[in-house]
Amino acid sequence: KEGQVREKDKADRATSEQVLDQRTRMILLQMINRGFVSEVHGAISTGKEANVYGAVAFPDINGPPVHRAVKVYKTAILSFKDRERYITGEHRFKSGADKGNSRKMVKLWAEKEFRNLRRIHAAGIPCPEPIQLKLHVLVMEFLGDRRGWAYPRLRDASIPSDDVEQLWTTLYVQLLGMMRRMYQVCKLVHADLSEYNILYNDKRLYIIDVSQSVEHDHPRSLEFLRMDIKNTGDFFRKQGVDTLSDRTVFDFITAPEGPVEEPGTAETIKLLYTSRSSDENDDKALAQIEVDNEVFRNQYIPQTLDQVYDIEKDAQKIGDGEGDQLVYRNLLADQAVLPKDPNAEGDEAEGADSSGDSGDGAALD
Ligand code: ADP
Ligand code: MG
Repeated sequence: KEGQVREKDKADRATSEQVLDQRTRMILLQMINRGFVSEVHGAISTGKEANVYGAVAFPDINGPPVHRAVKVYKTAILSFKDRERYITGEHRFKSGADKGNSRKMVKLWAEKEFRNLRRIHAAGIPCPEPIQLKLHVLVMEFLGDRRGWAYPRLRDASIPSDDVEQLWTTLYVQLLGMMRRMYQVCKLVHADLSEYNILYNDKRLYIIDVSQSVEHDHPRSLEFLRMDIKNTGDFFRKQGVDTLSDRTVFDFITAPEGPVEEPGTAETIKLLYTSRSSDENDDKALAQIEVDNEVFRNQYIPQTLDQVYDIEKDAQKIGDGEGDQLVYRNLLADQAVLPKDPNAEGDEAEGADSSGDSGDGAALD
């Protein structure tokens, strides 16, 4: 028995040492020296691609300690190979998709998460504020209470029992608003959104885990958006929420016109509910929504106008007020107001976003 325990002990140590290798310890040491954290505690989460640790910092010398979260991306992990599809085709990381070098890859993922968090946080969407990045180590705001307990994932949240139904619906509407804001203001699609990557506290949702989030112009962003809509819709439906159809949500998120923050987004959603035809409320209609969802989930979504099969016919349909059936009608609307600039280079302005936070890593490379 004792031998077994010792074996397990060893295994634990091996696992933690695999992550906190020499380089990682050096980075943490440097972060401690610079005051971004003062001590790093146990793991809040150990995942396939990263571990998240609790940490404490003293941002004001005489002030109280604050908790922080440190996400350490694991190097030499096979599953990163699969994630290539998220990076390929995205301008920001054109130079980065280097399969052969996993160290570079994890640095890239950490960088991506850092930038995405910064964008999402700047847009006022609840998420951890990114604080510091160094190679594959990211320090961010801790989402949890003062004693250091992290907020639960939405999946594990215990929702107070009075008026549960109402609260689930409120949370659903809140999330749709956040998804729309993320799409319209941050120009990002989460691409791994589910009850596992949303934290819950006190009637508020927080978005986390955005290293795989993609820009609009990623060739598969709309496909990922559709997946996010399906996953979150399925979850809320299981909680008893009367969810909107996937297509309705898709249109709500991608529509260029309309409010992009609360309470405007909630108002829009209310209208979507009232404008649902009344016969959508009986059982037959529910079955119909299921069919619609299935059709929508399997429909081909062109990402650019070049991929559209017969653009003139489709534009005509929209002109005739028959565009409702087109999954990408908002895309057409977008292009109509923003004529293509033939001189535009692929690289978009990332200037303000690419300041030197990660640029001083040479000593550790
Ligand atoms: P992974 O890639 O392993 O899924 P996540 O970013 O989803 O990484 O983080 C894993 C878990 O760590 C989350 O489910 C959450 O419980 C916890 N966590 C992550 N970031 C924070 C944070 N800023 N504050 C509190 N807990 C966090
Ligand atoms: Mg996660």
